[in-house]
This record gives sequence, structure tokens and C-alpha cells, in this order.
Amino acid sequence: MFLLLQDVPLELRRHIVSISLDGTSATTIIVDRETGEPIWRPFLYNESCPDALPMVKSIAPPNHTVCSGSSTLCKLVEWWNNAGSNQKSALLLHQADWLLWLLHGKLGVSDYNNALKVGYDPEAESYPPWLVSQPYSHLLPSVLAPGTPIASLKEEIANKFGFQKDCVVCTGTTDSIAAFLAACANRPGQAVTSLGSTLAIKLLSNTRIEDSRFGVYSHRLDDKWLVGGASNTGGAVLRQLFTDDQLEKLSEHIDPSKASLLDYYPLPKAGERFPVADPNLAPRLLPRPEDDVEYLHGILESIARIEAKAYSLLKELGATEAKEVLTAGGGSKNEKWTKIRERVLGLPVSRANQTEAAYGAALLAAKGYQQKN
Ligand code: ADP
Repeated sequence: MFLLLQDVPLELRRHIVSISLDGTSATTIIVDRETGEPIWRPFLYNESCPDALPMVKSIAPPNHTVCSGSSTLCKLVEWWNNAGSNQKSALLLHQADWLLWLLHGKLGVSDYNNALKVGYDPEAESYPPWLVSQPYSHLLPSVLAPGTPIASLKEEIANKFGFQKDCVVCTGTTDSIAAFLAACANRPGQAVTSLGSTLAIKLLSNTRIEDSRFGVYSHRLDDKWLVGGASNTGGAVLRQLFTDDQLEKLSEHIDPSKASLLDYYPLPKAGERFPVADPNLAPRLLPRPEDDVEYLHGILESIARIEAKAYSLLKELGATEAKEVLTAGGGSKNEKWTKIRERVLGLPVSRANQTEAAYGAALLAAKGYQQKN
């Protein structure tokens, strides 16, 4: 963290008026509520706590976001069941909360994006009664909207690194939401498809939808909802078959205005969650035509059909209809694929100008600064 501050060019530091950052969702740190020192090793985002799951399921509403072994609440319960005498003096922070605390020094502040997986209700703007009544509820941090000013940057840090004295530190968000914010999609119906190793979609909606069968849930973004789902199809399958160089060369010969009749379900291994919930769904990549251009065309078109099905499922579940799709990730540079997707989705598709999560966090910092002034 302090190395990163040092990396900011000296002449820029004195112009910085506001700071925010993002962290990995569900990475959890239990600290001492007086000193902020970690009193347990951090729980990483993807760590599962299956022993805690039955207890969490017994208190939370059915299919709630916390009912997954890697949720923050399962990590909290896991710790609570194994903690010794320091249960009373403990406090739970997410990765972003803890890093921000190093900058502003006020312990126990989080944001409603990071707090979703510990059970916070961003609609009611409170922790639900079933959570507040638990013996460990005193560990829960207080929650503000992402991009809310918390306090000034600590004086000793401002002095040491040459930042402004009144530089404000604002609440953060999760890394995937920050990446969405970076794309500057801010109207309901605008969406971002990430074509990396997997295919993930995020859609700004006026309505909140949840369906744990498909792994679909909604994050609050001010007065709107960010609805998301992730398919196991995507670039990982392409990489099993072609090098990035081959992908580029073969794509040049594809005619994107022509529909491919090849119908695949490209998966790196069996199992799909969204837009088809089937843990046994087998990859379908046959028959393979002799011509690799034709094969790649069929695969790219099949992935586009999965993307189209994903957006129509979100609509069926009650989300605002997608009207425009921005694209991030390695697949976004493939212009032929973009054209294929435009035809299959029936929507304008373009590459997002910015996709770095840090850019999204900087937008939150700007929002916090405007709020302060
Ligand atoms: P992640 O961060 O999820 O690992 P990236 O966003 O870095 O993924 O994207 C990498 C993926 O992009 C690879 O799986 C690769 O198959 C895919 N990719 C790379 N070049 C192309 C291309 N020209 N067309 C389509 N997909 C591509």
C-alpha cells in the first residue's frame, strides 16, 4: 500500500484531493477493535468454510447471498466458532476497509458493496434482524454508500508522502464493481460483458433481482442495481484450442455478417451455472469442420448466443432490458467477434474505453470529493 503511494509521481501527489480503492469481495480480516491489528490470518476471497455453512443456512433466508461456503458471513462464523478469549474485542473488516483504515485511521467503516456478502441489506440500509440477533453481531462494521467521505488522510501520511493536508479518504467498493464503474456505464439498460477466461455480464437495472440457482444477485449502485451473472464459457476454451496469435489471424478471415450454423456449447469442463444451471452440462465442441476459420466462427457465434441468452434471462428474471453492451477483457479487441455479437444480441456493442478497476475507484473518489464540497 505505502509502496503504491510512493509510486504516485511526486508532482501529482500535491494535487490529489480525494482517495478511494477497491478490494476483492469476501476477503475478510478479523482485527482488534482498539488497535486494528489482525488477530487471525486473513480469509481469502475464494476460501470456503463448509463447516460454518449449516449454521449460516439455519439463520439466513433461503438462497440468500450469504448461503455459500465462501461468503464473508461463513468466514465470520468459522472464526467465531474457533476464536478463543478475544471474541469480545474483535472487529470484522473487508480487504478494502482495512486498507482504507491505514489511510484514514477510523476503525470499523465499510461500504454496502463489500458488506453484501456478510449479510448487509443495501435496500433497507441496515443489517437484517436475523443477523443483528447473533452473538457475533458486534463484529460487523458500520456501512456507508461507496464513495462517501470518511475522514482526511492521516496527517503523518500526508506529510511523509507530500499529499495535501485536507485530502479526503472515501469508502471503496469490490474489484468487479470498480471495473464496471470504470466503463462509465451509468444509464439503466447499459451493460458490460467481460470476455476474459470466462464470460461475465453486469447490467445496470432499475430493479433488484436475485436467483441463487443461476448465481444471479444485485449490488446496489446509488438508486439503481447492478445485476450480474457469470458463465463458464469464454476465452479459456479458445485458449485450449488456439494461441492468441492464431485467434487474431483466423478471425481476420471471418465474415461476421454471415450466421454460422455450427451450434456448440464451449466449456473448459463439464458444468454451467448461468444462463443454464446444470452442474453436469457437458462441453459441446463437435463436429469440428476441417477449416479452422469456420470452426472459430462457430465457436465465437455460439459464445455470442450464450451471451444473448444470459441477457434475456436477466430480463425474464425482472431486470431492466439491456440496450447497449460495452466490452472488457481479452476478447474485446476482436472486432469480428464484436460484429458477430452485435448481430446475435441485436444490440449496439463496443469496447469500453476504460476497464481498470483502479479507474473505477478513482471515479468513486471524485464522487466523494464532490459530496464533501
Ligand atoms: P482473464 O483476465 O480472465 O484471464 P483476459 O481478459 O486477459 O482474461 O483475456 C484472456 C482471454 O482472451 C484468453 O482466454 C484468450 O483466449 C482470449 N483472447 C485473446 N485474444 C483474443 C482474440 N483475438 N479474440 C478472442 N479472444 C481472445
